[in-house]
Amino acid sequence: MAREALILALRKLLPEGRVVSDPDELYVYQSDGFTIARATPAAVVFPVSVGEVQAIVKLLAEHGAQIVPRGTGTGLAGGCVAFENGVVVSTAKMNRVLAIDLENRVAHVQAGCRNLSLSDAVSQLPLPGNSNFKGQTSNPYHFAPDPSSQRASTIGGNASTNAGGIHTLKDFVTSTHILGFEMVLPDGEVLKVGAENGGYESGPFDLPGLICGHEGTFGIITSLWVRLVPKATSFRTIVVTYSSTADACNSVSDIIAAGFLPAAMEMLDGSMIQIVEDAFHFGFSRAAQALVLIEIDGIDALLDGQMADVMGICKLYNPLSTEISSDPARRAALWKARKSAFGAIGRVSHSYCTQDACVPRSKLAEVLARIDEIGKAHGLTITNVFHAGDGNVHPIFLYDDHVESQVKNTLEAAEEVLKYCIDVGGTLTGEHGVGVEKLHLMPYLFDEATMAQFNRVKYAFDPEERINAGKLLPSEKLKVDLLKPGRQVPQ
Ligand SMILES: Cc1cc2nc3c(=O)[nH]c(=O)nc-3n(C[C@H](O)[C@H](O)[C@H](O)COP(=O)(O)OP(=O)(O)OC[C@H]3O[C@@H](n4cnc5c(N)ncnc54)[C@H](O)[C@@H]3O)c2cc1C
Repeated sequence: MAREALILALRKLLPEGRVVSDPDELYVYQSDGFTIARATPAAVVFPVSVGEVQAIVKLLAEHGAQIVPRGTGTGLAGGCVAFENGVVVSTAKMNRVLAIDLENRVAHVQAGCRNLSLSDAVSQLPLPGNSNFKGQTSNPYHFAPDPSSQRASTIGGNASTNAGGIHTLKDFVTSTHILGFEMVLPDGEVLKVGAENGGYESGPFDLPGLICGHEGTFGIITSLWVRLVPKATSFRTIVVTYSSTADACNSVSDIIAAGFLPAAMEMLDGSMIQIVEDAFHFGFSRAAQALVLIEIDGIDALLDGQMADVMGICKLYNPLSTEISSDPARRAALWKARKSAFGAIGRVSHSYCTQDACVPRSKLAEVLARIDEIGKAHGLTITNVFHAGDGNVHPIFLYDDHVESQVKNTLEAAEEVLKYCIDVGGTLTGEHGVGVEKLHLMPYLFDEATMAQFNRVKYAFDPEERINAGKLLPSEKLKVDLLKPGRQVPQ
């Protein structure tokens, strides 16, 4: 009854088609990419303006319904899943690029603007006059954060999870590229923080920095001012295969220790090479137990020398094969291979769960060995494709979602992996965030005083826990049991 009244009120507020409450249509909003965390929301609403977001937030407060912000649901930690009759507020239809100011290298976008749509829009603009970019055919600026989901994920979602990506090694995570936010707070007030014109905030605190990574627990981001930077134009791509993951990991660690900063250093383990080869036939050696894909960029005249130095380090670890290339077509094919890895898993496993932790690069070899042992002990196949240069591991657990014991095994193995990563000096998330997936391990990583301080920050934005309670920080108000039989259904 309470749900019916709420839906009726939402329908009065928003036009036809922007309130979804039919159980069949709600099915796709039951989870994000972490499909173990599943619950049917009471409804999903699609505002298109700040005013609508304010009105929705106030209405949900009156009805005592949890507000659950969502971009396009590509998250991998269950952050946008609405438990216990929560209402999903999706900013996916607030997807416009509002302004591009190349003179000040800043763009203003709505929160639901897809990551790649912004760079695509910039690339259509004429080359800047008085240009430092002679000889280029398209506009040189772009929005640098490049999660592999960048075609689908939103910039609001990227900022909320502080997303990383393939080029995070050199370009850093999303927070480096966010200048300001407009956000509707859980009481309906509109907060504007940060710089709108490419300058920096003059206040005493870095509030945009604080909001990055809030995982939808502070408010609903409605628009963002973001930094635009020139794209690199000269590249060299290096592919090295090895007969052991340890050799591959040690060469990655040594390259950084020697003072190089490649734009990207990605790694696939042996099983992932097989999966990608079976699906796409890129021609990688099936004997290889690891493949490292390195990109260096910068001033063209210097790149061949740097490439030789980096290759010299790789050769210390007995590679099976080496390949260097400055050909844009080969570069595109190699990055396609890397970006296709997640999609290819669908051919070999009914379900998969991608974990995400950061470890010191010098520990990568032992961490991968331990991950393999943990997988075997739990009877699970774990395959790896990850941002090796950042020490950001992504063990991918293959399992069958229909078999409860496999779900349980996956969660137990994932917990063991994450604890091990923390024990060797790593941290709980490299880029995907905590959501509900890693919530229980927050007190394992952070001491009581730190957890208390995190809570004070949350309550400063949301004293009544109206928004995304039980995500990122443990909450007395809403507790999620990932293994609840039948999962969560609306009352
Ligand atoms: C194939 C694949 C590859 C991926 N690769 C990467 C990668 O390389 N790097 C990486 O970091 N991540 C990656 N991800 C994870 C995911 O794409 C990112 O976390 C992304 O930033 C989520 O954006 P979204 O719009 O889908 O957000 P959602 O999944 O909808 O939401 C994510 C979180 O942000 C909050 N949120 C979303 N929009 C708002 C808003 N407007 N206001 C307030 N809170 C909001 C939600 O409440 C939730 O907590 C990948 C995912 C997939 C499926």
